[in-house]
Amino acid sequence: MSNLIGPGSTIGILGAGQLGRMLASVARRMGYRIAVFGGDDSSPTGQLSDLSWPGNYDDADALAEFARAADVVTYEFENIPAPAAARIAEITPLCPGAALLTAAQNRFKEKTALTSIGLPVAPFRMVHSGDELAAARAEFGDCILKANTDGYDGKGQWSVSDETDVVALWEETGIPEAVVEKKVSFDFELSAIGGRYRDGQKAFYAPFLNHHENHILDVTISAATQVTPELEKRATEMAAAVLDHFEVIGVLCIELFLTTDGQLIVNEIAPRPHNSGHLTIEAYNCSQFELQLRTICNLPSVNLERTAPASAMANLLGQHLPSEWTTDAFSCVGTQPNLHLYGKAGAKTNRKMGHLTITADSPDEAERSVRKTRDQLTA
Ligand code: AMP
Repeated sequence: MSNLIGPGSTIGILGAGQLGRMLASVARRMGYRIAVFGGDDSSPTGQLSDLSWPGNYDDADALAEFARAADVVTYEFENIPAPAAARIAEITPLCPGAALLTAAQNRFKEKTALTSIGLPVAPFRMVHSGDELAAARAEFGDCILKANTDGYDGKGQWSVSDETDVVALWEETGIPEAVVEKKVSFDFELSAIGGRYRDGQKAFYAPFLNHHENHILDVTISAATQVTPELEKRATEMAAAVLDHFEVIGVLCIELFLTTDGQLIVNEIAPRPHNSGHLTIEAYNCSQFELQLRTICNLPSVNLERTAPASAMANLLGQHLPSEWTTDAFSCVGTQPNLHLYGKAGAKTNRKMGHLTITADSPDEAERSVRKTRDQLTA
């Protein structure tokens, strides 16, 4: 195979959080070296890296040094300034490329791109003032105001109803522009994760069912009965359309709602592996992180197959952790669920500290068991 980036090469990762850590873990297992930009040796990714640049994204020299150290560069979060991405891409291949990155960091651009390829999204419009927000509410009814850039896990989001003083809310947000979306009624949320290789070949996991708490992913279920073969087909086709449209080399996730009237609509794109795909580490023959590595390094494609009938993942936020890791805490986890901790020092409320995954014969059993174990950690 031509253009193979083989073991011994260095994978550059922009961003130093848990997604980078799990990619680094797979890459190390397969004999690669890791360079990380955006966190020091104590960061979740830095702890597993050979080289690290705590760096800031305005430092063109540090970015160039990092890019020269890597054979291919990918990213583990989307808020990388465009000039920094461009600086790197001048020196070393950046996968996925700038087109997807730019769209994914700007909600308006993202929704416009999705619409342009025929994928349904909740009705939306851009607003720049309290008056424009009032007009959007008059059009949509209950809606959600979302910062156009830099939002994640429900941060930079405000619910708007009849009772909201929209002018006061607009002032309180202090942002120059935002996207307003109609609040949709949905039966459940799901995510479709897939990868695309350099030759255009694609691979997908069967979509996952996701439960959120306070806008943060809480529990993900694989092989959920609600995700019918018909839904799987539609969601996968939508993910494929996004992968092809942006000519992605790498992995992405689309987050979807199944509305109460049976429509499948895209909420947003994550241009990288996704929290809902963590269970692929135990539940598939190739994890989303290995798929990321395979696609960006031009390794041979693999057919993605479940290695267990069902599985579930529960996030461990700061509040889910025992105050200290005693023998008892470890005993209640056992070896199934599989415990992942991200090496973060401060266990703050709502901070993603780790996750648990369990594989089982049925999705209900997996979900029950993973929730029960998580509860036991703080019981
Ligand atoms: P987001 O940051 O866009 O992923 O939104 C976080 C969560 O807020 C989603 O997972 C949904 O649970 C909820 N949400 C976002 N947009 C909408 C919408 N248009 N209608 C209803 N719920 C939404």
